[in-house]
Amino acid sequence: MSIDDDTKQMPQGDWVGERAHALASLRDFIPKMPRYAPRRNYAVPGDDGVSRLSPYLRYRLISEEEVVTQVTDALDFSVAEKFIQEVVWRTYWKGALHLNPGVWYSYQERVNELVAVADASSWGPVCEAARAGRTHLSYFNEWVHELTATGYLHNHVRMWFASIWIFTLKIPWQLGAAFMYHHLLDGDPASNTLSWRWVAGLHTKGKTYLARPDNIAKYSEGRWTPHEGELATEPFVVQDELRLSARQEPELRCVVSSTSPGLVLSADDLSIDQILDTRDYSSICIYDAAEDRTPLKREFLARAIEDLCERVAEQRSDRSIAVVSSQSDLTRWQEKESLDSVVIVQPQVGFPVNDLNSWVSSLVTSETSVGVLHRRWDHELFPLCSKGFFTMWERFQKRWATKASLSGLVGAGPGTPQ
Ligand SMILES: Cc1cc2nc3c(=O)[nH]c(=O)nc-3n(C[C@H](O)[C@H](O)[C@H](O)COP(=O)(O)OP(=O)(O)OC[C@H]3O[C@@H](n4cnc5c(N)ncnc54)[C@H](O)[C@@H]3O)c2cc1C
Repeated sequence: MSIDDDTKQMPQGDWVGERAHALASLRDFIPKMPRYAPRRNYAVPGDDGVSRLSPYLRYRLISEEEVVTQVTDALDFSVAEKFIQEVVWRTYWKGALHLNPGVWYSYQERVNELVAVADASSWGPVCEAARAGRTHLSYFNEWVHELTATGYLHNHVRMWFASIWIFTLKIPWQLGAAFMYHHLLDGDPASNTLSWRWVAGLHTKGKTYLARPDNIAKYSEGRWTPHEGELATEPFVVQDELRLSARQEPELRCVVSSTSPGLVLSADDLSIDQILDTRDYSSICIYDAAEDRTPLKREFLARAIEDLCERVAEQRSDRSIAVVSSQSDLTRWQEKESLDSVVIVQPQVGFPVNDLNSWVSSLVTSETSVGVLHRRWDHELFPLCSKGFFTMWERFQKRWATKASLSGLVGAGPGTPQ
């Protein structure tokens, strides 16, 4: 079994990987905000209840900070509170994974192990049927087809999907998470892995999410009506196979010696040019991890990276921006540009950070100086994510109310506070 089989589809997405589209989508959604809290849980085609901003937020074609700022500039906090809370959930998951990167590495290891034993396992055939959308549950099959064709599922559908995968079909959660991650345009190491763990009862120990027929019928307004007895009625305890020995990444934290270092960006943050003067850097490189992607995701991300390159080219006379996808390409870029100092914008835990961290380790031994920049939003909020979401949410609200800045950058780079 491979976790990355593509369905035969041509790119046909609703999302265009351009910052202008992200900004326009937010602008169009703001007037619809009063419907968000009452309608966000309804998964009804054509309903404007949710923003569908997640592919843009995932790659930060628009940042969480910009979204919350623009929304609160236009509306009372109370009108947009539920929406802002959801945007902050994204940050919470990122912060939680940042504080516990072993969860990611452990999950990755387990996916590889499960893929290797799938053909000989009792759940293997069910897993194949689920991935192909050929189970005995017609609504589940519809969700699989929608996911693979569009790269998107409504949040409530993602919850039902994960719950049925784990508790009714009894397939290991890690394979469902990997399947969803691969197909979602917004596939995100933190939101996806930790949401699956949450459904399985592994994030808040013992608190599982069980999809119920009446809930599915109500929130799909009768489109999907599972029969009583068709879905699991009792959750079981999912073993947490988290390995404490799993690799923990050291944080990248160093200094910059040159006044005009090279800059390494990652595909995790494609609107960094809005808060950083790219003219401070002698050369720029965008690192996009070599992941196996669906055609939809490839197209979206290729355009998003091109879009960043076009914006950066407007700021600088030097128009050459390298786009690389391996450690050896990074080294070639550094050697070609004769850089003895580089600054990296910290990527989130996930594929890019794996490679970037090993590259940085090799730089440190070769005596190249390395600086790391963090968005202030991440720097201030991630440490608050060690407990439950609502503890973090309360502290976030207090901070936001005092207008304490969460914008800009911190870290070691030209012109930034250390
Ligand atoms: C099993 C499961 C897997 C998921 N996998 C991902 C994933 O890979 N990538 C991803 O971006 N989201 C994931 N989510 C979270 C959520 O489903 C999506 O962010 C949301 O559906 C995106 O649609 P939207 O932009 O219309 O959301 P809206 O409801 O309009 O919310 C606005 C923004 O808030 C954030 N947000 C909303 N709900 C959540 C949530 N529950 N958790 C975290 N952030 C949220 C998103 O950035 C979203 O764009 C997952 C949820 C579940 C239950």
